Amino acid sequence: MTSKKIIVANWKMNPLTGKEAVALFKKVKSLAGKNKNTVIVAPPMLYLEAIKRMGLGKVKLASQGGVIGDTGAQTGMVSLAMVKKVGASHAILGHSEMRARGTTDQEVAEQVKDCITKNVTPILCVGEKEREGDMWYLHAVKSQIELALTGMQKAKIANVIIAYEPIWAIGKNAKREATVKECEEMAIYIKKVLADMFGHKESKKVSILYGGSVDEKNAHVFLEQGGVDGLLVGRASLNSKQFSAIIN
Ligand code: PEP
Repeated sequence: MTSKKIIVANWKMNPLTGKEAVALFKKVKSLAGKNKNTVIVAPPMLYLEAIKRMGLGKVKLASQGGVIGDTGAQTGMVSLAMVKKVGASHAILGHSEMRARGTTDQEVAEQVKDCITKNVTPILCVGEKEREGDMWYLHAVKSQIELALTGMQKAKIANVIIAYEPIWAIGKNAKREATVKECEEMAIYIKKVLADMFGHKESKKVSILYGGSVDEKNAHVFLEQGGVDGLLVGRASLNSKQFSAIIN
């Protein structure tokens, strides 16, 4: 865990216009300029170029997904190579909302590999649907990590960020946010899974984030006691006042 935290704003399919996106980014850029944390914004892909043209300041840009390869016959798709060209240094991959629309573990694994070859940092989202009493959720998270990262070179693992996003804690239908204890337990478990795959030394270099109903009231608790290196924020990242409180 580092004292400098990583805060990712996942704007999802918001806002409605490029003008609003540029205005929101302007506020985030000014906040991030005065802050020691690493702030990463993932706007809809359509707005990446306009935002890049504004100048990013200290903010980094992430794409929301992206398909492998550079160009090709893939109607409706945008490649990771394209998002890299318009300034994305990171890519959110395997988000539960993408998995729900059909993205498979196999595709996520290919996207992760493609990101690494393109020098784009994958933010790999993992998380269980339900938290049953029998600890099956640990298996669900382990298997998502193994399927996404098997075959990756040890030396490259430090370039991956893992976001633990329990599905039951995400979005407006969330049951609740995770408790700090649940977050800490999972952060430790993810480190163990990584250590088994890549060795203890390398696994320590991987940043782990928590995402799921983070707001200005609970952010500091997760950051101080949740055993994570940062946060992935959905709804609260669209409100500059709330987001400002989170990154501060
Ligand atoms: C998300 O979907 O990645 C997320 C964390 O959403 P929210 O913060 O709105 O729960």
